[in-house]
Amino acid sequence: MTTSLLPPSTPTGLLIGGEWSPGRARLPVVDPATLETLAEVADADVGDGLDAVSSARDAFEPWAATRPRARAEILRNAFEIMTAEIEDCARLIVLENGKAWNDAIGEATYAAEFFRWFSEEAVRVAGGFRESPGGDKTIITDHVAAGVAYLITPWNFPAAMATRKLAPALAAGCTTVLKPAEQTPLTALWVGEVLRRAGAPAGTVNIVTTSQPGPVSEAILADRRVATLSFTGSTPIGKLLLAQTAQRVLTSSMELGGNAPFLVLEGADVDEAVAGAMVAKMRNGGAACTAANRFYVHESLAEAFTGRFRAELAAMAVGPGIDRANDLGAMVSLDERDKIVGLLEQAEQDGGRLDPVGEVPEHGAFIAPHMVHDVAHGSTLTRQEVFGPVIPVVTFDDQDTAIEMANDTEYGLISYVYGRDKGVGIQVGRRLRAGMVAIDRGVLSDAAAPFGGMKESGLGREGGFHGIHEFLETRYLGVTW
Ligand code: NAP
Repeated sequence: MTTSLLPPSTPTGLLIGGEWSPGRARLPVVDPATLETLAEVADADVGDGLDAVSSARDAFEPWAATRPRARAEILRNAFEIMTAEIEDCARLIVLENGKAWNDAIGEATYAAEFFRWFSEEAVRVAGGFRESPGGDKTIITDHVAAGVAYLITPWNFPAAMATRKLAPALAAGCTTVLKPAEQTPLTALWVGEVLRRAGAPAGTVNIVTTSQPGPVSEAILADRRVATLSFTGSTPIGKLLLAQTAQRVLTSSMELGGNAPFLVLEGADVDEAVAGAMVAKMRNGGAACTAANRFYVHESLAEAFTGRFRAELAAMAVGPGIDRANDLGAMVSLDERDKIVGLLEQAEQDGGRLDPVGEVPEHGAFIAPHMVHDVAHGSTLTRQEVFGPVIPVVTFDDQDTAIEMANDTEYGLISYVYGRDKGVGIQVGRRLRAGMVAIDRGVLSDAAAPFGGMKESGLGREGGFHGIHEFLETRYLGVTW
């Protein structure tokens, strides 16, 4: 075990009732770059999950009644602590997730921003006051904390997905039970300790790490003390959880999978498009729900685009993210890497031409970037979320066909457009069925903007002015004045 690599303030227990407890069983956390065990964390069972709900429920009324300004200041403290210790957070992300150092610093910074943004939002929840059209009463609306919020996060952004839920939930006056992904629990536990140090009262933040996400979550969602679910993860698990929340008519916010198209239209600046594509595709090694998954390139630009993209990929240093010189780290696990290898084999059977770029370490969950040429729209690579450094290129000669292909998916999280000018980009962008459209940009995520998808990419929005409302109920008071 290589525990000494972890920042000294990294907890490994369950956070329940404001205390860390070791739990009854342990769960190993593996560094995908070395395949060594980094640490063992508590492996919660159903009883632990329900204890976390009890703790959150006990803390709810006092927290909801806490002055918004006081809640805001705790979140601001969390932002300050996290920012001061950003390298500790990045180190944990790199070690358990495998991503490159710069990606981890980027994620940790983005994650801390949610504490700052929602500290500002905590004091700005506005209600309404107006006469009814019939003049018989006054319509007063306010927004009240939903109650205990259950939060489930994936492994690809272990810090940012946790803070994107914890910060608005706490700002709204909800108390929380967070279940991070089994492969990346350490970062979430570290975030829990940041909140504890920032002054979050006992029971407002509870964290259960577990190897049994199904039974633990089912018991928590069936518990009448839980008011809302916020989930980020795959579409199939999201659907399964929606079926469970339907049993109790629970509100739920779902941030699910993506299949982002990246359009390079006739007349686009190829250098700019390649620079954007590098970020949209290679950030996090492609393991992002926002990752460009399929490239539609006008035939007049295809050769220049693929040639320059390939040259950029060839210049990337691949290796353990803990070495800050590396641009591309490991996938989160050997299983995840093998899933990508399987998709590449399928792509070849579908008629695609594989073009691997560069060398990667033999030991560890590494995979070389692959361009895939001659890809047909409709083949597996254009249908399935790849979650790795794979670049399928489809060429087109007609803009309307490109838009049709881009929209031809059950997903609708994000789309990218590079056009001749901003006007074309905006015109085409408005025809894309996605919750987010990046025009001449490779990255959009911002704590101040509404993040979320259309179609099977999700329900609800996180961040921006919308995020806090996922954790608030609207109440209407009718009064004869
Ligand atoms: P996943 O398999 O759906 O897992 C997500 C979370 O759900 C993990 O904490 C997982 O726990 C838990 N889980 C698994 N089975 C469960 C069950 N039966 N009941 C309750 N919880 C369960 O997704 P992933 O592979 O970690 O993450 C990748 C996916 O997340 C991709 O599809 C990606 O697009 C999506 N994602 C979406 C967004 C967005 O904002 N739209 C952001 C990031 C990622 P375990 O770890 O223990 O399995």
